[in-house]
Amino acid sequence: MLIDPGESTREDLERYVKRGGYLGLARAVRDGPSAVLAAVERAGLRGRGGSGLGEPVARKWREAAAVPGTTKFVIANGAESHPESRKDHLLMTRYPHRILEGLLIAGVAVRARQCFVYVKETYNDALASIKEAIAEGLAAGAWAGLEMEITVFEAPASPAAGEESAVIDAIEGFNPPRPRLRPPSVTSVGLYGRPTVVNNVETLAAAAAVMRTGEPAGTVLVTLTGDVRRPGVYEVPLGTPLRAIVEDWGGGAPGPLLCVLPGGSASGPLGPAELELPLDYDALWRAGTSLGPAVLSVVAGAGRKPGDPFQDAARLWTSGSCGQCRLCQEGTAELLDAAQRIVQGANSAREDMELWALRLRGKGNCLYATMVARSAARWLRVFGNELSG
Ligand code: SF4
Repeated sequence: MLIDPGESTREDLERYVKRGGYLGLARAVRDGPSAVLAAVERAGLRGRGGSGLGEPVARKWREAAAVPGTTKFVIANGAESHPESRKDHLLMTRYPHRILEGLLIAGVAVRARQCFVYVKETYNDALASIKEAIAEGLAAGAWAGLEMEITVFEAPASPAAGEESAVIDAIEGFNPPRPRLRPPSVTSVGLYGRPTVVNNVETLAAAAAVMRTGEPAGTVLVTLTGDVRRPGVYEVPLGTPLRAIVEDWGGGAPGPLLCVLPGGSASGPLGPAELELPLDYDALWRAGTSLGPAVLSVVAGAGRKPGDPFQDAARLWTSGSCGQCRLCQEGTAELLDAAQRIVQGANSAREDMELWALRLRGKGNCLYATMVARSAARWLRVFGNELSG
């Protein structure tokens, strides 16, 4: 639905249209906002952004659509802040029209006039691809008559720049952008105080596929990375057991498997016995970890000890905090210190980590502090005393 593994070149407008591209947009315009919202809801489309919560897309769109007027904004979020994620880069460089079509469909659903594509500033090839696609679409009249303008905005490559309220901050001119305290939600009070839908670029490409095919949104782009034979970006059906992704799709690990971090290195680990868990937002959240931006990071190899990836993760917890909330900044630094002492065998360090994990839960302007707290707790639960030495 989202990518074509047989191809290695950029899908231009002509090729996309031959495959039914922009048919979904035509349907959206013909059937109107209520029908689009119903179709996206029926398809069960959930957000593919970095939080890994999989928020229902229709709920967000309905909230923005319910506000009268047309001074509303839709933003395709291609900040891809997670250091190991590559799926948004792949979509933006190879399949830019799928993102643009989804963006315009969202615009139709909420009656917006102004759309943005927010692309990581260091992704020069993605920026060029999106700009070329907009030029192709305008020249061919692919969205003629829609009265919607698309602007490209370069996203700062700072840790929190992809968080949805920080996206608003960046476009309003704040640098570095920082997450804002909620409520109110960005969807109700967003860019310049107006209703704003911020969706990850994959979410929008999936919305275009849903409107084109009428089929459920049943796949997710996974960045498979770390100690695995065939790393890369795969489009995987939701519900696939993680073990199948690592072993069948990725060719397995070149050595004994220690753990898999399903939402990238900053997410909580799953031990080898837990890999029957499905690729699913809710199942992974219930297990105490998170799908995050679907970066499956595999840790394996003869002689590898859990203490090393544990300390790497703790370094990421610290570097990923934007530093705006004092507790998050201090707490992530304390967790790193506790992780290093745990590995050295200090008796009190485990208790310190448990305490900081408790203090961080539910705190801060964004979910980050909670995510880190959950990850810390999971490392302790999965590996216990094996983290020392
Ligand atoms: S919780 Fe952490 S990452 Fe989120 S805004 Fe506060 S300091 Fe920044």
